[in-house]
Amino acid sequence: MRSLLSIPAKQQQALIFPAVLIALILNLFLLVYSLIAGLNLIENQISLATALLKLAYLLIFYIHLVPLIDRYPERSWVILAVNTIVVVLIEFIGHHLPLGYSFICIMLMTAVSSLIFNRWYTYIFLACASVAHIVTLGLNSQNVTDSIFLDLFFLPLLGIATAETLLKLQSSLQFEINRQQIINKVSRSLSSSLEIHQVITMVTTAVQSALDADTYYFGLIEEDTIHLELFYDDGEFFPSMNVPIEGTLAGRVIQTRQPLLIGDLPEERKKLNIDYKLVGKNKVSLSWLGVPLITGKEVLGIIAVASYQKSAFDQRDQELLENIAQRAAMALDNAYHHLEVETRSQLDSLTGVLNHNTFLVRLEQAVQIAQTCGQPISLIMLDIDHFKKYNDTYGHLTGDKVLIELTRTIRHNIKKDDLVGRWGGEEFIIALPDTQPDQAFLVAERIRAACQKIIILDRDKKAVPAPTISQGIACLPKDTAALEKLIDIADQRLYLAKERGRNQIQAQSPVNDSLLSKN
Ligand code: GH3
Ligand code: MG
Ligand code: MG
Repeated sequence: MRSLLSIPAKQQQALIFPAVLIALILNLFLLVYSLIAGLNLIENQISLATALLKLAYLLIFYIHLVPLIDRYPERSWVILAVNTIVVVLIEFIGHHLPLGYSFICIMLMTAVSSLIFNRWYTYIFLACASVAHIVTLGLNSQNVTDSIFLDLFFLPLLGIATAETLLKLQSSLQFEINRQQIINKVSRSLSSSLEIHQVITMVTTAVQSALDADTYYFGLIEEDTIHLELFYDDGEFFPSMNVPIEGTLAGRVIQTRQPLLIGDLPEERKKLNIDYKLVGKNKVSLSWLGVPLITGKEVLGIIAVASYQKSAFDQRDQELLENIAQRAAMALDNAYHHLEVETRSQLDSLTGVLNHNTFLVRLEQAVQIAQTCGQPISLIMLDIDHFKKYNDTYGHLTGDKVLIELTRTIRHNIKKDDLVGRWGGEEFIIALPDTQPDQAFLVAERIRAACQKIIILDRDKKAVPAPTISQGIACLPKDTAALEKLIDIADQRLYLAKERGRNQIQAQSPVNDSLLSKN
């Protein structure tokens, strides 16, 4: 049974206010009527008592019981039972009350029930009230046939019409409230999120609770592909994957920058001339909805949902997804900027390699991993020979070019997971995880050889001599188990390489070690 009781108490009170007000006026009339008619008659005494009790119950119901429905929805059947008993009791004394009073009471209660309870509760109430109404009418009426015939059909049919109209109203109100709550929640959480993955997780959680979809994913543009993050299909999460932009539904949304809502996917695919591209489970979705993630002029990606049912999504779902996508795109843009600023603060502005502090932090992490896994880690300390001459002869800008080209050369000759940092000035440091000294020597030699092929033009477009470099290598745990000592040893070996005539590599060797121990 769908829970309809999540409408906040204040809104429930506002919804049923007109019906309660009419009931209050009705009972005030009954009160005044019974007083004017004189209390010597038993009918008028019953009317007065009914009016007073009903007025009291209405106020208690409106002020105290309605908020209880919101707070304890699982116990709302108690309130429904009380309502039903009140109406049935009125029915049993109905023949003492003015004509039509009990009928109006049932209709008003039906209206109230359909606004704050669900369909089942409303019909249980209506059935009990109708049976009580017809039974008591049968018991008390002298001219049975006409009246029973009218009430037998008229009361239930009018009740059903009232209930259905109001239940429809209530469910669209419920939808709006849910939607607003989801949007508010996603906005609140996204506004404090500066991490890309956090944004993606929050958005997909919101999409999951907002839409009745079997499949959903968050796709980010990566060159000419869409990188599907958090891809969920039929109860299962799939690892991230890339799909092409060209020839896919997601790609179409990105290319047109427009949402796409498809109720009958197999049929629509033929019209759009888009092939099947099964991702996730080996099952064909029958409806699909995708909206682009746009900030300013840029399309960042797409949020898409799919279902194994036809026409699972409508215009309202599209609007909701667009709303979420708008907020998600803003949050993503913020997260990208944040990442950019953070990354930039970790890099050397001229060469783009890690700056001194960040290199140290990363090296510490790499050493920890190496020690945990029992792997070696090698360090190369590298310095350009006579670099000052570049500045003095060709100008500072040409000197800068040498630094940039050198780092490019280093990067070309190391692995993706190796670390490069600018230790200071024209001195660089390279960390090679899981690398023994002899392998590190080969890397250093590769860089040294590649440096001699660097072509740099000065301000007059004339080639300047390629730089030569000196390098010192140290390895953990072979040379030392301590990080600071490791850097120290690499530095001392670099110094040794300089002393021995530059353009060379100094790695561990008996001769080096004896020289080192003298320092
Ligand atoms: P050696 O072979 O002994 O290392 O001599 P060297 O000239 O390379 O070393 P030295 O320490 O004497 O000079 C380094 C020079 O690097 C001095 C400094 O002005 C220059 N330098 C440091 N940072 C930069 C930079 O960012 N750009 C440029 N163009 N020059 C820099
Ligand atoms: Mg130098
Ligand atoms: Mg130097």
